[in-house]
Amino acid sequence: MPIPDEDVAKVRSATDLVAVVGEHTALKRVGRRFVGLCPFHAERTASFSVNPETGLYYCFGCRAAGDAISFVRAVEGCDFVEAVERLAARAGIVVRDDQDGRAGVERGRRKLLYEALSRAVEHYHERLLSGPDAGRARQYLRARGYDAAIVRQFRLGWAGPAGEDLVRSIDLPPGVLVEAGLAWSGHGRLRDAFAERVIFPIFDAGGRAIALGGRVLPSELARGHQDQGPKYRNSPESSVYQKRRTLYGLNWAKAEVARTGEVVVCEGYTDVIGFFQAGVPRAVATCGTALTEEHFRLLSNFARRVVLAFDADAAGQSAAARLYEWERSHDVELAVAALPAGRDPADLARLDPEALVGAVAAARPFLAFEVDRALQALDLRSPEGRSRAAETALDAIAEHPSELVRDQYLVEVADRTQHDPERLRPLLEQRRLRIAERGRPDGPERGDRRKAAAEARGGGPVAAGRRPSEGAGRPAPSRGRPGPSGPRAGLEALALAIHRPSEVAGLLEAVLFTDPLQREAFSALENASELHEAVANAQPEAAELLTRLGAADLEDDADPLGTYLALCRIAAERALAALKREARLAARQQDPAVEASLLEAPSSVQLDLELLREAPDRPAPGDAAIEAARRLVAWLARRERDG
Ligand SMILES: [Zn+2]
Repeated sequence: MPIPDEDVAKVRSATDLVAVVGEHTALKRVGRRFVGLCPFHAERTASFSVNPETGLYYCFGCRAAGDAISFVRAVEGCDFVEAVERLAARAGIVVRDDQDGRAGVERGRRKLLYEALSRAVEHYHERLLSGPDAGRARQYLRARGYDAAIVRQFRLGWAGPAGEDLVRSIDLPPGVLVEAGLAWSGHGRLRDAFAERVIFPIFDAGGRAIALGGRVLPSELARGHQDQGPKYRNSPESSVYQKRRTLYGLNWAKAEVARTGEVVVCEGYTDVIGFFQAGVPRAVATCGTALTEEHFRLLSNFARRVVLAFDADAAGQSAAARLYEWERSHDVELAVAALPAGRDPADLARLDPEALVGAVAAARPFLAFEVDRALQALDLRSPEGRSRAAETALDAIAEHPSELVRDQYLVEVADRTQHDPERLRPLLEQRRLRIAERGRPDGPERGDRRKAAAEARGGGPVAAGRRPSEGAGRPAPSRGRPGPSGPRAGLEALALAIHRPSEVAGLLEAVLFTDPLQREAFSALENASELHEAVANAQPEAAELLTRLGAADLEDDADPLGTYLALCRIAAERALAALKREARLAARQQDPAVEASLLEAPSSVQLDLELLREAPDRPAPGDAAIEAARRLVAWLARRERDG
């Protein structure tokens, strides 16, 4: 653990969760908590609840749940340590280094990298706006249709002739500049890494500069420089910049992505800017890599639907199975926008912005796109062409994990290629077998079972941004009816233990919780010194339950004694019923001694239970029922101990 637990707790308690969340969605006070539209999924009615007293949030729509740290991690796409540091900085707290100080050194180093990159962005930006040698760059950008507002929004810059201009203007250690990819050292001198390039700064989701992308000017504009290197050059990876986790543009796009639930993924910086110009300000780009699962996970925090707006060949047939897996495991819908051949979004934004907007609106599911492509590539007028088209389409269909989906596409392909579906089915089966032999470590079938099991238990992952079916996970609406998280009295007792622990101290015990999940949640609470520790130590489903109750508020009429009696009554009735079943079994097995011993004990239990059943709705501390309940709890504990 790089940051001591006490420091994490200190940061948490010093953080105003309402203010942190309030930067991403408007919150309204309701009683002691706040509600608003969920920043993690698109919705019209507020189901996102924030409780400033417990420091927890929960979404009843998508089940995003957690505390300030997990919120920052989710919206900024950073790791735990970074999230704690950001909150610490915000609250004006200094977090200590770990024992050997290595993590502290690393954090200090990252801070310097951010500093260097941010200064470089401003330096190059100023240079573009007012540098005497930036005329060619400004001319080029104007020719691309970039006005001053675009240049400012995307902090575009200009790195002039090769030299030491940047190195001299940033007063930071040479090692930092080199690691940040801003400079290189040779022959004992430090020189700028970028020269004669238009600079596209790359920011993380939280808006911090983490790298630079540099594009050479088209050759007719860049006079007299023979060796320009590649068209685009990016900073190398560093401890603040990992390509597989970075999406260019997410910092500008995320609000719109969260609002609409849709994100457009393209390939280049100029494509992203093109989408913004065309009125689709929800585009991001990978930074010279294929789409990774980390990208997907980051996007699934904001989007329900991911539209790919690049040549689907780039995704490649071998990637299809992976895309389907991510689609399923991150619960997002993947679609492909069909762009006119040979046009990238940046061109289209300039030449025909309406076509670009239309292509996104008409985006189709990934498999539909693949099937279309297979059928359009071949001549369907001849039997040979139709057969080959069907085979190619079947290759694509076979990759899809769902049998129902596969079958529908098979029927469509059969129809369009004039085949009998029954002739195509065995061909599809062959392909499925080949895929099965190819062997994926985590086949979709296994994933299915895990998911089904989780749903059957009524639980779900705590991770922010996962979204099982809408509306799942609401507490049981009426008294006594077990809901997704078990009996109502147990939920009330847990809520009391979270929000008013002193009032139930000495009353509640684990043995009173008949619902296994509630009992697990209570045990986690009992064994922790505070709520956040309990959440951290509990199993995922119990952690979600604790978070949900913690983010909500107690009902006004919550009554500790009444809840305690209800819980006792339910647990005792349940135990008594079990005892009767055992006695009946003993009777059937004709073991009168056992039968008698089983039936004898509960007579006092029966009496105590009667007292509980007759107790008033809001019992007073001295009521006989309270003493009866205590005896029942002792009996339950004994029974459980003796097995
Ligand atoms: Zn939500």
